[in-house]
Amino acid sequence: MPIFQNILEKIKTYDTIIIHRHMRPDPDALGSQVGLKEIIQHNFPTKTVKAVGFDEPTLTWLTQMDKVSDEDYSDALVIVTDTANQPRIDDNRYTTGAFLIKIDHHPNDDVYGDICHVDTSASSASEIITDFAFSTGLSLNAQAARLLYAGIIGDTGRFLYPSTTAKTMSIASQLRQYDFDFSALARQMDSFPYKIAKLQGYVYDHLEVDDCGVARVILTQSFMKEQGLTDAETSAIVGAPGRIDNVEAWAIFVEQADGHFRVRLRSKSAIINGIAKRHDGGGHPLASGANSYSLEENDQIYQELKDLLMSKSI
Ligand code: AMP
Repeated sequence: MPIFQNILEKIKTYDTIIIHRHMRPDPDALGSQVGLKEIIQHNFPTKTVKAVGFDEPTLTWLTQMDKVSDEDYSDALVIVTDTANQPRIDDNRYTTGAFLIKIDHHPNDDVYGDICHVDTSASSASEIITDFAFSTGLSLNAQAARLLYAGIIGDTGRFLYPSTTAKTMSIASQLRQYDFDFSALARQMDSFPYKIAKLQGYVYDHLEVDDCGVARVILTQSFMKEQGLTDAETSAIVGAPGRIDNVEAWAIFVEQADGHFRVRLRSKSAIINGIAKRHDGGGHPLASGANSYSLEENDQIYQELKDLLMSKSI
């Protein structure tokens, strides 16, 4: 049985379905999670379908989570979207259901679930969920379309990144036909508070750019506190260094409350997820995350990026 049919059969079998996604959610995590919830609820109104996880304050305008009790998990189908590794699943009760399905588009480094569907050719988990609905004949409501569209434009940088395929655009085009407030969504996804505009200025001001096209900047806890910035809010400027024409790959080191650094790695063409994996992280070939536990490790990561770029240019 094709995998999407297989997943649909499982959805039909269970009365309660609980959907998880990764910690520190972005629009694709939330779009795929709640988009799938909307689709199931719309097609099977008698089922109980819940989305679980932390309500990320910067994204509550997009959607919000449900209250889920431990009892809800007994005999429930659990679906996890957009999450490559089990430690990154938001809410560890995902193991307490009756059946587990993983649906993701990241490299499948951690194969988990009774069914594991990973399609790394998809731009986003939201693209896969939409494809699933269209391929199995499930109908969408406008709210599902809005969330899935938001997920796709979030993960493709509004169709900018190379992960954008003809299929991505075709799916987005079909989602656009639903009756949601497109302009409000587009505006919301493209606007940020004044403090983020100032952060962008800080990043450009303090960016160190190496001759081989590698750039880095450190956002310290004291700077973040002074500016009233949370870790989640820094996601708005992750793409900023890449807008500089001679920057090929970059690292943004965001100091955390415990003193370690969350490292956000991006590249225009050199594959950087190997570096992320060596430093307690992972992710996509051109967009990865890692963790660094000292200033020396920050330097080491920067050096590895430089070595990678140098080896490419030889
Ligand atoms: P971020 O910089 O947090 O936006 O992450 C970019 C990509 O890397 C996302 O697709 C994440 O799923 C992935 N990623 C970030 N941090 C980690 C981590 N600690 N372990 C594995 N993957 C990660």
